[in-house]
Amino acid sequence: MERTFSMIKPEAVLGCVAGKIITRIEESGLKIIAQKMLRLSKEQAACFYAAHKDKAFFEELIENITAGPVIVQVLAGENAIEEYRRLMGAANPAAAEENTLRRLYGISIEKNAVHGSDCPETAAREISFFFNQLEIIK
Ligand code: GDP
Repeated sequence: MERTFSMIKPEAVLGCVAGKIITRIEESGLKIIAQKMLRLSKEQAACFYAAHKDKAFFEELIENITAGPVIVQVLAGENAIEEYRRLMGAANPAAAEENTLRRLYGISIEKNAVHGSDCPETAAREISFFFNQLEIIK
Protein backbone atom coordinates (compact mmCIF):
# COMPACT_ATOMS: atom_id res chain seq x y z
CA MET A 1 0.00 0.00 0.00
CA GLU A 2 1.31 3.42 -0.98
CA ARG A 3 -0.01 6.89 -0.06
CA THR A 4 -0.24 9.95 -2.23
CA PHE A 5 -1.42 13.50 -1.73
CA SER A 6 -4.23 14.92 -3.86
CA MET A 7 -5.53 18.46 -4.18
CA ILE A 8 -8.73 19.46 -5.96
CA LYS A 9 -7.87 23.00 -7.00
CA PRO A 10 -10.04 26.16 -6.66
CA GLU A 11 -11.19 26.18 -10.29
CA ALA A 12 -12.69 22.70 -9.80
CA VAL A 13 -14.26 23.50 -6.41
CA LEU A 14 -15.66 26.84 -7.65
CA GLY A 15 -16.74 25.17 -10.90
CA CYS A 16 -18.75 22.61 -8.89
CA VAL A 17 -16.98 19.55 -10.32
CA ALA A 18 -15.28 18.47 -7.07
CA GLY A 19 -17.95 15.82 -6.49
CA LYS A 20 -17.42 14.39 -9.96
CA ILE A 21 -13.66 14.27 -9.37
CA ILE A 22 -14.14 12.52 -6.03
CA THR A 23 -16.45 9.97 -7.68
CA ARG A 24 -13.79 9.25 -10.33
CA ILE A 25 -11.18 8.78 -7.60
CA GLU A 26 -13.47 6.35 -5.75
CA GLU A 27 -14.23 4.45 -8.95
CA SER A 28 -10.51 4.15 -9.71
CA GLY A 29 -10.05 1.93 -6.67
CA LEU A 30 -7.89 4.42 -4.78
CA LYS A 31 -9.08 4.77 -1.18
CA ILE A 32 -9.65 8.23 0.29
CA ILE A 33 -8.10 7.92 3.78
CA ALA A 34 -8.19 11.65 4.66
CA GLN A 35 -10.03 14.65 3.25
CA LYS A 36 -10.79 18.27 4.12
CA MET A 37 -11.60 21.61 2.52
CA LEU A 38 -9.66 24.79 3.28
CA ARG A 39 -8.47 27.98 1.69
CA LEU A 40 -4.72 28.60 1.50
CA SER A 41 -3.20 31.98 2.39
CA LYS A 42 -0.58 33.40 -0.01
CA GLU A 43 2.14 32.51 2.51
CA GLN A 44 0.94 28.91 2.88
CA ALA A 45 0.68 28.53 -0.91
CA ALA A 46 4.22 29.87 -1.42
CA CYS A 47 5.48 27.37 1.15
CA PHE A 48 3.58 24.48 -0.46
CA TYR A 49 4.93 25.38 -3.93
CA ALA A 50 8.44 26.36 -2.71
CA ALA A 51 10.01 24.05 -5.30
CA HIS A 52 8.61 26.32 -8.04
CA LYS A 53 9.68 29.65 -6.51
CA ASP A 54 12.15 30.46 -9.30
CA LYS A 55 9.73 29.60 -12.13
CA ALA A 56 8.31 32.35 -14.32
CA PHE A 57 4.78 31.19 -13.52
CA PHE A 58 5.21 31.17 -9.71
CA GLU A 59 3.13 34.32 -9.04
CA GLU A 60 0.33 33.04 -11.26
CA LEU A 61 0.49 29.66 -9.53
CA ILE A 62 0.02 31.33 -6.12
CA GLU A 63 -2.83 33.48 -7.46
CA ASN A 64 -4.65 30.45 -8.85
CA ILE A 65 -4.23 28.17 -5.85
CA THR A 66 -5.46 30.88 -3.44
CA ALA A 67 -8.41 31.98 -5.63
CA GLY A 68 -10.86 29.85 -3.62
CA PRO A 69 -11.12 26.76 -1.45
CA VAL A 70 -9.26 23.55 -2.20
CA ILE A 71 -10.09 19.98 -1.17
CA VAL A 72 -7.01 18.12 0.03
CA GLN A 73 -6.90 14.35 0.36
CA VAL A 74 -4.68 11.44 1.16
CA LEU A 75 -5.20 8.54 -1.24
CA ALA A 76 -4.00 5.00 -0.61
CA GLY A 77 -3.57 1.99 -2.87
CA GLU A 78 -1.06 -0.12 -4.73
CA ASN A 79 1.23 2.25 -6.69
CA ALA A 80 -1.04 5.09 -5.56
CA ILE A 81 1.35 7.83 -6.75
CA GLU A 82 1.58 6.51 -10.30
CA GLU A 83 -2.07 5.43 -10.40
CA TYR A 84 -3.29 8.87 -9.38
CA ARG A 85 -0.99 10.62 -11.85
CA ARG A 86 -2.39 8.36 -14.56
CA LEU A 87 -5.94 9.27 -13.50
CA MET A 88 -5.03 13.00 -13.49
CA GLY A 89 -3.40 13.00 -16.93
CA ALA A 90 -0.80 15.42 -18.32
CA ALA A 91 -0.44 18.90 -16.76
CA ASN A 92 -1.82 20.55 -19.89
CA PRO A 93 -5.50 19.47 -20.20
CA ALA A 94 -5.35 19.83 -23.99
CA ALA A 95 -2.54 17.24 -24.09
CA ALA A 96 -4.01 14.95 -21.41
CA GLU A 97 -5.44 11.58 -22.42
CA GLU A 98 -9.19 11.08 -22.90
CA ASN A 99 -11.12 10.47 -19.68
CA THR A 100 -8.39 11.79 -17.38
CA LEU A 101 -9.37 14.30 -14.69
CA ARG A 102 -7.41 17.12 -16.31
CA ARG A 103 -8.83 16.41 -19.75
CA LEU A 104 -12.38 16.28 -18.37
CA TYR A 105 -12.24 19.09 -15.82
CA GLY A 106 -9.09 21.16 -16.45
CA ILE A 107 -9.47 24.58 -18.03
CA SER A 108 -5.81 25.32 -18.91
CA ILE A 109 -2.30 24.38 -17.75
CA GLU A 110 -2.61 27.04 -15.04
CA LYS A 111 -6.06 25.82 -14.01
CA ASN A 112 -5.73 22.10 -14.43
CA ALA A 113 -8.23 21.04 -11.73
CA VAL A 114 -6.06 18.67 -9.68
CA HIS A 115 -2.63 18.16 -8.19
CA GLY A 116 -1.00 14.88 -7.19
CA SER A 117 2.39 14.05 -5.70
CA ASP A 118 5.09 13.00 -8.17
CA CYS A 119 7.24 10.73 -5.94
CA PRO A 120 7.26 9.16 -2.44
CA GLU A 121 9.37 11.97 -0.91
CA THR A 122 7.01 14.65 -2.25
CA ALA A 123 3.98 12.63 -1.09
CA ALA A 124 5.34 12.41 2.46
CA ARG A 125 6.08 16.17 2.52
CA GLU A 126 2.73 17.16 1.03
CA ILE A 127 0.69 14.84 3.28
CA SER A 128 2.39 16.13 6.44
CA PHE A 129 1.97 19.73 5.20
CA PHE A 130 -1.82 19.34 5.46
CA PHE A 131 -2.60 16.41 7.77
CA ASN A 132 -1.59 15.15 11.17
CA GLN A 133 -1.67 11.46 12.08
CA LEU A 134 -5.09 11.71 13.80
CA GLU A 135 -6.69 12.90 10.55
CA ILE A 136 -5.57 9.92 8.46
CA ILE A 137 -7.58 6.68 8.57
CA LYS A 138 -5.38 3.72 9.43
P1 GDP B 1 2.14 18.65 -11.73
O1 GDP B 1 3.04 17.85 -10.82
O2 GDP B 1 1.66 17.88 -12.92
O3 GDP B 1 1.01 19.37 -11.00
O4 GDP B 1 3.02 19.81 -12.35
P2 GDP B 1 4.21 20.68 -11.71
O5 GDP B 1 4.48 20.28 -10.29
O6 GDP B 1 5.33 20.68 -12.67
O7 GDP B 1 3.59 22.13 -11.72
C1 GDP B 1 2.75 22.54 -10.68
C2 GDP B 1 1.62 23.33 -11.27
O8 GDP B 1 2.12 24.51 -11.84
C3 GDP B 1 0.87 22.64 -12.43
O9 GDP B 1 -0.12 21.76 -12.01
C4 GDP B 1 0.27 23.84 -13.15
O10 GDP B 1 -0.93 24.26 -12.51
C5 GDP B 1 1.32 24.90 -12.95
N1 GDP B 1 2.17 25.01 -14.14
C6 GDP B 1 3.03 24.08 -14.64
N2 GDP B 1 3.62 24.54 -15.75
C7 GDP B 1 3.14 25.78 -15.95
C8 GDP B 1 3.37 26.78 -16.95
O11 GDP B 1 4.16 26.61 -17.87
N3 GDP B 1 2.68 27.93 -16.80
C9 GDP B 1 1.82 28.14 -15.77
N4 GDP B 1 1.20 29.30 -15.69
N5 GDP B 1 1.56 27.23 -14.83
C10 GDP B 1 2.21 26.07 -14.92
